[in-house]
Amino acid sequence: MNKVAILYICTGKYVVFWKDFFDSYEKFFLPHSEKHYYVFTDADEIYREQECERIHKIYQQPLDWPDSTLMRFHIFLGIREELQQYDYIFFMNANCQAMDTITEEEFLPGDKELLVVPHLAFWGKTNLEYTYDRNPKSTAYIPKGEGRYYICGGVNGGKTQAFLTLMEELRHNIDVDKKNGQLALWHDESHINHYIIGRNDYRILTPAYCYPEGKESEFPMKILIRDKSKWIPVDSIKNQGFVKMMKFYLKKVKDKIKIILGRN
Ligand code: UDP
Repeated sequence: MNKVAILYICTGKYVVFWKDFFDSYEKFFLPHSEKHYYVFTDADEIYREQECERIHKIYQQPLDWPDSTLMRFHIFLGIREELQQYDYIFFMNANCQAMDTITEEEFLPGDKELLVVPHLAFWGKTNLEYTYDRNPKSTAYIPKGEGRYYICGGVNGGKTQAFLTLMEELRHNIDVDKKNGQLALWHDESHINHYIIGRNDYRILTPAYCYPEGKESEFPMKILIRDKSKWIPVDSIKNQGFVKMMKFYLKKVKDKIKIILGRN
């Protein structure tokens, strides 16, 4: 039986998605594999963690947006040694929900190394329309005219060694960007799109496996990406980092004014 590690982050309010994620993946996802869930969270207790020994909860402090998503490879590589025991590793966004049976034959990479899913929004479009990172200073940069697919950051994985190698390279690229003061346009998604350019060792599915809630399409709904805004205040979560930075500068200005007034 295949051993599969599922990597899942739910810090802060994102923990609300864990119950439906877990129940739906237990019911539908890779029914003939032994699935282990690595849940990186700051929640005190998560659904079923006491009963199910395949749930491995690991404390993760909440990070500001976009580090909460961008730093995922750094976070996962913290358990690199433990992950070596698995045949496959998959990352799933917190708001994924399996909607129908997803067999090993249809989802595992087979004779390829990695598994990726095209983004529905760019299906049937040309690569000039893809929102790749076009900033040459970023390690996620893709020149115009290159690239076959625009893949989604929310569902991906592969054979263990191949996915560990991907994570190591992207962790390195993200560190380089940070050192150079760069931030890839769509964070981890831009980096993973850059990673697959020029490779042929990945299996690509259809947008059925990353199906945004509320969208019409010809594809069956296999993995639903739930509309977060129905459950959590997405905008305020994503503005938190910006607000913190503004508060910091405002305090600096206030301190300066106090000093000037004091001097007067
Ligand atoms: N995430 C989290 N806590 C946060 C923000 C993000 O756990 O405060 C994780 C979660 O796994 C989420 C992923 O980062 O699915 C990507 O974030 P989000 O879905 O908001 O990004 P989007 O896919 O909308 O760009």
